[in-house]
Amino acid sequence: MENCLFCKLAAGEIPSAKVYEDETVYAFRDIAPQAPVHILVIPKTHIASVQELNGETIGLAAACLLAIPKIAAQEGLLPGGYRVVSNCGPDAGQTVGHLHFHILGGTRLNDRMA
Ligand code: AMP
Ligand code: ZN
Repeated sequence: MENCLFCKLAAGEIPSAKVYEDETVYAFRDIAPQAPVHILVIPKTHIASVQELNGETIGLAAACLLAIPKIAAQEGLLPGGYRVVSNCGPDAGQTVGHLHFHILGGTRLNDRMA
């Protein structure tokens, strides 16, 4: 999609710190990390958020979710674990309108979720 920051990152038009890539998924380090490990996992195909998912597009989210355990292992987040977050819409603080899953880890995370 034109003028979508994460579409441009996935296409390599804007540089990012890649940690993982496959046919469907691109993952990179968050530019403003909120944990020692903070990675964003996105589908290469544009979709706005979890709210937009349907039977035709669920494969994009599934591919991201399947990539997450591989990335977690690669980043040394096991056996301690990690948090996966997908902000959806303004009340959740979504600032980039391209579906993304945050992987947060590398420390004992705050117990608060909201
Ligand atoms: P959200 O608030 O859930 O929409 O998350 C968007 C995330 O994208 C934030 O954590 C930002 O720090 C991150 N971000 C914004 N621009 C970039 C960029 N150019 N490279 C990497 N991460 C970015
Ligand atoms: Zn996009």
